[in-house]
Amino acid sequence: MNTVPDRDAALRARLARVLPPAEIALAAPLIERIQALKAERDAAVVAHNYQVPLVSAGVADFTGDSLAMAEFALASPARTIVVCGVRFMAETVKLLCPDKCVLLPSSEAGCSLADSISAASVRGIRECLPGVPAVAYVNTSAAVKAEVDVCCTSANALRIVRALGVPRVIMLPDQHLAGYVARETGVDVIAWGGQCEVHTRFRPAEIRSYRESSGATVLAHPECPEEVQAEADFVGSTGAMAAYLRERRPPRAMLLTECAMADNIAMECPQITFLRPCNLCRHMKATTLERVAAALQTLTGAIEIDPALAERARAPLARMLELA
Ligand code: SF4
Repeated sequence: MNTVPDRDAALRARLARVLPPAEIALAAPLIERIQALKAERDAAVVAHNYQVPLVSAGVADFTGDSLAMAEFALASPARTIVVCGVRFMAETVKLLCPDKCVLLPSSEAGCSLADSISAASVRGIRECLPGVPAVAYVNTSAAVKAEVDVCCTSANALRIVRALGVPRVIMLPDQHLAGYVARETGVDVIAWGGQCEVHTRFRPAEIRSYRESSGATVLAHPECPEEVQAEADFVGSTGAMAAYLRERRPPRAMLLTECAMADNIAMECPQITFLRPCNLCRHMKATTLERVAAALQTLTGAIEIDPALAERARAPLARMLELA
């Protein structure tokens, strides 16, 4: 069994692959305080792949994509779940774990995709297209999920749309994920015009130039625009990118996604050199160690969803889990 000093030494060694020693030393007391608070509060911490290493490796019990975070929370015996991510992620955890206390340390952390569409807009689209199934990306509010037939993630979107077995679907809110699904499946996808403010900033000419000068393998998230995806060797979710890199270990890689993703994989795969024409998500960066400690200390930032709405929003998530 690992002793605490062993665990601390292993953590410091991991963090030292991506952070300077002074930053690790400065954060160490707060990391220790959060570990103690987790035990006191019977809490587990789940972090998205876009969280910085001090959060993901320092205090999280699990790091992954939004659905994997919710699935970990569901399987965890902890009564309190701290979500290091943005609001729709915390809502998804609460929908799947209604009896747990779910805390979002950065209560203002939104998402340009989730904020791009309202429940009323979904109702309006569906009235215009009766009988066409509606698929919502998990990057949506509980109120929007409650209006659709099934949810999807970037990891399972192709499987979900194929499993529906229909020629036409409504897919919201990300126009670029919808375009990717349409190209890959041949299904007629009617898209909403939302986009991720982070992935939409990449430029094809810039990626081409980096690639030509470095020979790096390029991996793009399907939230990137089509012309950016076209520059990539691989297009996939954050989980699929991580699996690709773990398996193939290219000497140089460039991830067209949020910056922290490369840091989190670099801790695990130090032999890969990452080029970083990446973009920061201001919403994800709202989570800090200080805020995680404060949420655990005061138990503030609890997610509440009206039970009737939650029941409706849970149904398309359950359908996704059945089909995926
Ligand atoms: S990276 Fe994009 S999709 Fe993810 S939380 Fe930030 S704005 Fe939303």
